[in-house]
Amino acid sequence: MYKSIKDYMRLNNGIEMPILGFGVFRINDNDETADCVKKAIKHGYRSIDTAMIYGNEAGVGKGIKKSGIKREDLFITTKLWNSDQGYDETLKAFENSMERLMVNYLDLYLIHWPVPKNNKYIETWKALETLYRDGKVRAIGVSNFNISHLENIITQCSVVPAVNQVEFHPWFLQTELFTYMRQKRISAEAWSPLGGGALLDNETLLDNKILMGIAKKYNKTVAQVIIRWDIQKNVITIPKSSKEDRIASNANVFDFELSDQDIKTIESLNINHRTGPDPDEFDLGT
Ligand code: NDP
Repeated sequence: MYKSIKDYMRLNNGIEMPILGFGVFRINDNDETADCVKKAIKHGYRSIDTAMIYGNEAGVGKGIKKSGIKREDLFITTKLWNSDQGYDETLKAFENSMERLMVNYLDLYLIHWPVPKNNKYIETWKALETLYRDGKVRAIGVSNFNISHLENIITQCSVVPAVNQVEFHPWFLQTELFTYMRQKRISAEAWSPLGGGALLDNETLLDNKILMGIAKKYNKTVAQVIIRWDIQKNVITIPKSSKEDRIASNANVFDFELSDQDIKTIESLNINHRTGPDPDEFDLGT
């Protein structure tokens, strides 16, 4: 069981990825991003999740430099945007991301969305395989891929994705997808683990009251309970906050363990509710 922020998930290629990381979506300003990343690293995070489309890769790079932590002690993920799909375009976009991040290798590179309408994710994946074979990235994966998209990659390409980063929180469990991923040894990573904040703020919401009841038992916050639940489910999780007290408290989840009953109660909140787009439909930016 995970006991420390240093604990990791071993991916299907043997690489160790921290079970808890720091997400930087919607921290738009590069200086603010740098400041948040530096604070996250100070509070023990070693994994940072960004994307080309967040517009803050340069801020992540700056924050890493300011942190004083060695590059090899960090795990950096970024994502290829929809308009950059295609074999040659992907290789170019990767170099641009590395330049903005000021690194000479990446730990994890993800295809951000499958965009099935464009039918380019297979050639895009082949470019990721090239980057992986060339040693420029330690692991390659996808984001927002449904079973059919994963199945196409597995049958038409050589490397099985190491990670699929998908929407996952108590309102949206995606059970069938997660079962499939377990069978194929694709690690699950949760985006919007706190439901983008919607599960936390609304005290008039019955679900929030139920989560508050669990949190009180452990003397923890609702956010800490949800993050701990991810970890006990073996789901890599990357909560975002731009506030130092929350950055710190979201990482303070390794000194308690949720009971099986409380895990069942959290999962009883599932209503198959997405807060983000449907991957079969989403084609923004193409
Ligand atoms: P989260 O579920 O992490 O929630 C973040 C929101 O919750 C923010 O509004 C934050 O506000 C608030 N919050 C965080 N901690 C607390 C706390 N302890 N108490 C109260 N409020 C809190 O949402 P995200 O959508 O940011 O998801 C996390 C990460 O996942 C992203 O940053 C990104 O890296 C990744 N992601 C990937 C996607 C993909 O398509 N692959 C899509 C979406 C996200 P504040 O900052 O003010 O504290």
